[in-house]
Amino acid sequence: MSCVLELKNLSFVYGKGTPFEKKAVDNVSLKIEKGEFIGVIGHTGSGKSTLMQMLNGLIRPSSGQVLLDGNDIWAQPKKIRDVRFRVGMVFQYPEYQLFEETVYKDISFGPQNQGKEGEALDKAVRDAADFTGLKPSLLEKSPFDLSGGEKRRAAIAGVIAMDPEVLVLDEPTAGLDPMGREVLLSQIVRYHKERQNTVLLVTHTMEDIARVADRIIVMNKGRPEMFAPTKEIFSRGDELEAFGLRVPQITAIMRQLRDKGIDVPEGVLSVDEAFAALVPLLQKEGKLW
Ligand code: ADP
Repeated sequence: MSCVLELKNLSFVYGKGTPFEKKAVDNVSLKIEKGEFIGVIGHTGSGKSTLMQMLNGLIRPSSGQVLLDGNDIWAQPKKIRDVRFRVGMVFQYPEYQLFEETVYKDISFGPQNQGKEGEALDKAVRDAADFTGLKPSLLEKSPFDLSGGEKRRAAIAGVIAMDPEVLVLDEPTAGLDPMGREVLLSQIVRYHKERQNTVLLVTHTMEDIARVADRIIVMNKGRPEMFAPTKEIFSRGDELEAFGLRVPQITAIMRQLRDKGIDVPEGVLSVDEAFAALVPLLQKEGKLW
């Protein structure tokens, strides 16, 4: 594996020199490998969004560096636009950024700016719509005629259509109903599997991130207090609680069973995994056949 993003002593201070000065990101150094699916969790105000916005040059670090494929993204500030094509950013409630006459035009805005045209542009738009589960018949509609969930998909498709090496999603499922969340999450997972590029997903939903992330960054007061494989993060429940976080409910239940002396594996992260662990035990007890 090779490193796609390296953060070196990265800090960001809001309102420097004013009475409202606030260090939102504090001396962060870490490396993300190509193709990883990284979860980013942390209490509100822990610096997640600020950190994400530095990854594609939307805000410039107060100090430190962001290296993309080994190169400092601010080495040539005039070229920062190119970085925004390579590190795609989906903000919270991205549907507010839709502005074109048709969904098709909205999704094609990014790739067109990248210089794509003709068939390549059409393919980029249609593939991106497919990844987010937008029906082709919606492409000619006005974005304002779409449902809330469809608008969200259209906005995400607009970023995916640029085929970024790194896709950053800041709470992409916020405000969607449970079914909408589930479907969107599985589409992001499919996108990651098929394109094999790097994804960073900021979320408050431990159940979601537990199922999909390879590694998780736990932010607390501007610092990545933990950065480890997902199973390890969720086997350190006491530490997470100290940062105002919790393990997924199924992980907590399985831990309680273990504490009661029942021989279930540690670090269970999903209902499916729990089911697979419990069935043989129940069969052994003669409670299932
Ligand atoms: P998170 O995404 O984890 O909720 P943020 O990166 O939004 O955290 O915020 C980190 C800290 O920076 C918080 O204390 C927040 O109040 C502060 N902050 C965020 N945005 C601004 C801003 N535009 N001006 C001043 N302070 C800000």
